[in-house]
Amino acid sequence: MKSINAEQIFRRNILDLKPYASARSEYSADKGVFLDANENTTAVSAHNRYPDPLQTELKKRISAWKNIPVANIFIGNGSDEPIDLLIRATCNPGKDNILICPPTYGMYEVAAQINDVTVKRVLLQSDFQLNVKGILDAVDLNTKLIFLCSPNNPTGNLLRQDDVRRLLDAFTGFIIVDEAYIDFAAATSWLSVLDQYPNLVVLQTFSKAWALAGARVGMTFAAASVIAVLNKIKPPYNVSQQSQDAAVTALAKHASVKAAVENILEERSMLADRLLAFSFVSQVFPSDANFLLIEVADANLLYEFLLTRNIIIRNRSQQPLCQNCLRISIGTREENELLLAAFKNYQS
Ligand code: PMP
Repeated sequence: MKSINAEQIFRRNILDLKPYASARSEYSADKGVFLDANENTTAVSAHNRYPDPLQTELKKRISAWKNIPVANIFIGNGSDEPIDLLIRATCNPGKDNILICPPTYGMYEVAAQINDVTVKRVLLQSDFQLNVKGILDAVDLNTKLIFLCSPNNPTGNLLRQDDVRRLLDAFTGFIIVDEAYIDFAAATSWLSVLDQYPNLVVLQTFSKAWALAGARVGMTFAAASVIAVLNKIKPPYNVSQQSQDAAVTALAKHASVKAAVENILEERSMLADRLLAFSFVSQVFPSDANFLLIEVADANLLYEFLLTRNIIIRNRSQQPLCQNCLRISIGTREENELLLAAFKNYQS
C-alpha cells in the first residue's frame, strides 16, 4: 500500500501552522462554570453557548453507523466546506492545480478559482464515464487533487469502479470521490476501501437522502493524517449545535429515511417512464441519484415555459455534453404530477 507524502501534498504554511485554540477546544466537559468563551451566560436564548468544535457525539454515531474510526471523520458546514478546505490545504495559489471531469458539480471549479488555483478539465466520455488515459496524461507534478463525483451531478450515473481504482493506483495526489448521492445508488460506497487507499477522500452529506440541506452538515472520510489537517484549518465552530443535533436525531430515524429514499426511487422510475413518453423528450439518462437528466428538443424553451408555471428545474444545457439537457429533482408524487401536467400543456 502506498503512503501519502505530507510534505509533497500539503502546503508548507499549512504544515507549519499553529492552529487557533478555541475556548471549547482547550477545555470541554459537560459540567462546570464556563466563563472561558465570552458567551452571554444568562438564559435569554437556548443558543447562547458555542457548539462542540469537534462534533464529538455526531462523529461517534457516524463512526458506529459507517464502521469508520472517529479519527477518519471530518464534519463540515455542508460538503462545500471540505471542498474548499481540501483545495486550500494542498494547493499553493498561482502554482498548483486541481483536475475535474465536466460536466460535474460546479463548486470544485469555483472553490479553486476563489483560491486562485488553476483547474484542469478532462471531459467525461460520451457515456459520461471517465477518460482515464486523458486524466493521467493531463496531471502534472503540481496536480494535487482530482475531483470525481459518483453518482455524478448532473449526469446521474455512477463512475465505473475499475476506472476510479486505476486513478487511485496511479495518481500520487488525492482522489476525492464526492458521494453526495450515494444513498440513492445501487452501489457500495468507496468507504469500504478507505483503509486500502491513503490518497482516497470520500465526501458524503446529510443534505440529500437525510433531508437536512438546511442544516449544512457534510461528512469527509479520509486517512487520519488528512482529517487532522482539515481540523487544523477549519473555522473553530464550523457546524452549529442545532445542526449537529439535527444530524444526530436524523440518524436515529434511519428506518424512515430508508423508506423515504425507497419512495424517491419509485418516483424516479415512474417519472423516467412518463417523461420519455413525450415526443419532445429524446433521452432520459439512467440515474443513480435523486434527479433525472433529460435531453429535450429545446431546453431553453421548455425551461422558460415551466418557469411561467412556477416549476423550477435546472437548465444544464450550457454544460459540455449536455446540450439541450435539463436536470429535474425528484419531488413528491404531487409535485411530480404537476411537472408532468405542465409537460402535457407544453406539448399541446
Ligand atoms: N456535491 C455534490 C455532487 C452536490 O450536488 C452538492 C449539492 N448540490 C454538494 C456536493 C454540496 O452539498 P452540501 O449541501 O453538503 O454542501
